Amino acid sequence: MFDNLSDRLSGVFDKLRGRGALSETDVRSAMREVRVALLEADVALPVARDFVDKATEKAIGQEVLRSVTPGQMVVKIVHDQLVETLGADTSELRVDVNPPAVVMMVGLQGSGKTTTTAKLAKRLTEKQRKKVLMASLDVARPAAQEQLAVLGRQASVDTLPIIAGQQPVDIARRAVQAARLQAYDVVLLDTAGRLHVDEQLMGEMKAVAAATSPTETLLVVDSLTGQDAVNVAKGFAADVDLTGVVLTRLDGDARGGAALSMRAVTGQPIKFAGVGEGLEALEAFHPERIAGRILGMGDVVSLVERAAETIQVEDAEKLAAKMAKGKFDLDDLRTQIAQMQRMGGLGALANMLPGMKGMKGAMEKAQDTKALVHLEAMMSSMTARERARPELINAKRKIRIAKGSGTTVQEVNKLLKMHQEMSTAMKRLKKMGGLGKLAAMFG
Ligand code: GDP
Repeated sequence: MFDNLSDRLSGVFDKLRGRGALSETDVRSAMREVRVALLEADVALPVARDFVDKATEKAIGQEVLRSVTPGQMVVKIVHDQLVETLGADTSELRVDVNPPAVVMMVGLQGSGKTTTTAKLAKRLTEKQRKKVLMASLDVARPAAQEQLAVLGRQASVDTLPIIAGQQPVDIARRAVQAARLQAYDVVLLDTAGRLHVDEQLMGEMKAVAAATSPTETLLVVDSLTGQDAVNVAKGFAADVDLTGVVLTRLDGDARGGAALSMRAVTGQPIKFAGVGEGLEALEAFHPERIAGRILGMGDVVSLVERAAETIQVEDAEKLAAKMAKGKFDLDDLRTQIAQMQRMGGLGALANMLPGMKGMKGAMEKAQDTKALVHLEAMMSSMTARERARPELINAKRKIRIAKGSGTTVQEVNKLLKMHQEMSTAMKRLKKMGGLGKLAAMFG
């Protein structure tokens, strides 16, 4: 999903990473590249322009640039702007109204409307325990009504019995009436599609809406059609009171232009995404998660947010510089432990970072506060030379350190082993390329 856009953006950010400071010119030129990336992803021009204007303004106005790498902060600003563009939060379907709630599905032929109707019916039945009735109003396309009936059987959802020759508005009325009589909670109306948005189609949509007062009118668009999807959405939004959008074929969408434009063009949130042909392949649309996927960064955003609050810049810079050289001594371990403790939980942190699984065990061992006091005591009993070159710590020195810190030789050994494990994990991480992420975060 969105691989092309993802690649382009990470190319832009790679240039910023690891830089100590960014000038306004650097930020502006990065944002110009972001704009190109968005346009190449087929994002509508006004949306891309607005995106970049807002992100630039935030980036240049940022006072917090010193708290983490400025490059990383730019990534976060772009991330937040993506979330805003996609729509701030998940929007639930409004079906908890006086039953039956009517959900009208609109869209062009081939957009995936009928499949999506069945997917949604299945979801409402299984996840929200609703009693759902589906009805196809598509009398233009032969076998459209039969197609919905087949999908209904697959999804174990009832469909309105077909009466040959009946017109869309009459079918819709009959569906609502049947739902009322048979105590259905939700009626899903699969309206007729056309190849293009035309007056006749819009007239029909308006008539059906007037006859059934839908609580939700969802526009189904094929994300693969990019700019066309945007134009279709504009067409529908002008004539029908949409309440949300369903983007289909997001599973095959490498660009993401339709997804990013939809909210701005229709003024309505994307509520669901179709991610495959199967009837279970429908996901609630979470802008946060999609933005995270586009930027390929998992939970790193929240991590950076937390790091920005707690990390001491000077310590972090020193540590990052050493780590970049593949060096990790006991002083670093000490700093690291103190910092991670401030960030709330070492094990939790390891879970958030890609490629850090190897460090998890060692970190959890260090997490115990009593152990931490001991660690600190042992390290203060070492000489600076010993901390910088742990291999110097022989049996005799171990005894001295244990005595000085009120611990035992075994505990000193444990500390050295932990350092060993972490430094091995760091080396492995470096090989995997994950250190870049980590170092960027701390530096
Ligand atoms: P309609 O003409 O708008 O009702 O479109 P259909 O529901 O008949 O769907 C057309 C084709 O698109 C079918 O083969 C569906 O299986 C397929 N399709 C629908 N949604 C998705 C989706 O989210 N992902 C993928 N890969 N295929 C989909």
